[in-house]
Amino acid sequence: SHTAPRKLIAGNWKMNGVGAALAEIEAMAAAAERLSCDLVLCPAFTLIERAAGLVRDTPVRIGAQDCHAQPAGAFTGDISADMLADAGASHVIIGHSERRMAYAEANEQVAAKALAAYRAGLTAIICVGETEAQRDAGRALDIVVAQLSASLPDGATAANTAIAYEPVWAIGTGRVPAEAQIADMHAAMRQHLSARFGMEGGQMRLLYGGSVKAANAADIFAVPHVDGALVGGASLKAADFLGIAAAA
Ligand code: PGA
Repeated sequence: SHTAPRKLIAGNWKMNGVGAALAEIEAMAAAAERLSCDLVLCPAFTLIERAAGLVRDTPVRIGAQDCHAQPAGAFTGDISADMLADAGASHVIIGHSERRMAYAEANEQVAAKALAAYRAGLTAIICVGETEAQRDAGRALDIVVAQLSASLPDGATAANTAIAYEPVWAIGTGRVPAEAQIADMHAAMRQHLSARFGMEGGQMRLLYGGSVKAANAADIFAVPHVDGALVGGASLKAADFLGIAAAA
């Protein structure tokens, strides 16, 4: 009796965009009512409050790209989950591979950040994914399931968590795994999540991320247990992002 959830299409703007880019979010919001998927845009911290104001009366939601694990304190330069919620965010990307690599974020830290997000009422989009060397060594499924296991805190539900499977070698490269590779990975993730979280794990949305664009989105969304996408480069322009959303 598993009913497929509404697809979630999340845009990760990374370190791109200043105020002028808000026009793109405005254009996305203007079209969102006609879509049958959920849209979340994750711009830089500095744009969150303005972006949230722009989408207030639309179905579009705003997210951040990281948060700190602690609620407050002497952490110069960091942003807490409560601050994100206060600025109008409802979502936060956690454990993106760029942060795992550049800041050596370990699974345990990702889990602690997810817990902080839940406490602030935010939905966590938790990222996992293997490197090319790990896939070539035949270890992709084991690595990703182990990441998933250690990156999700107890208390994760279908409402407060989405998973983004992003093979590191597919991010920003134009390379996308074969549909069978995505299918195998998403099936393995679903099996793990259902075993650990029961019905909640069965309903948690599993996004694919890495070089998603309008031209390949429909094929990716047709893969079993793909419940949406996390989109980088193709989320910066409304026309590109809406093209992906239209395929969902
Ligand atoms: P990309 O990035 O769509 O530009 O490959 C995806 C991501 O890093 O989330």
